[in-house]
Amino acid sequence: MADNIRLEVVTPEKEVVNDLAQIVMAPGSMGEFGVLSGHTPFMTSLNTGAIHYRDESGKDQFVFVSGGFAEALPDKVTVLAESAERMEDIDIDRAKAAVERAEQRLADRSMENIDFIRAKAALERSLVRLKLVGGAS
Ligand code: ATP
Repeated sequence: MADNIRLEVVTPEKEVVNDLAQIVMAPGSMGEFGVLSGHTPFMTSLNTGAIHYRDESGKDQFVFVSGGFAEALPDKVTVLAESAERMEDIDIDRAKAAVERAEQRLADRSMENIDFIRAKAALERSLVRLKLVGGAS
């Protein structure tokens, strides 16, 4: 069987993941990619989305990530992200409140460009969080 790779997901606030994985899949800005042990090294920025990995025991794990970069080495994937949390740590009510807040801001026609971009990004983060926990409806 192939070797496991170490996955680390770190934000400025905390280490979210430090685990061994059979495979890691991540939302690269140039497209979704998968990393197995022995992969050719590369670096990429990440889209807001989910990192999906299969842990040592074969269990699928999902981690929300936003504002991230990934470095893949043959035996290690490191993700540095502005925000990240494991799927089971996502607070659904908080994400729903964030959707409402962002939608209200986007409905405000007097918004400056920069606020518009910020509100769009906040909306995307909260919708992706809800999609990940299956609570989008
Ligand atoms: P909010 O407006 O609710 O703060 P946000 O998208 O602006 O949402 P981020 O800037 O992405 O929040 O994240 C700030 C911190 O809060 C990070 O540590 C992130 O993991 C955490 N976080 C944000 N939203 C949630 C959520 N719905 N459930 C769990 N943790 C969250």
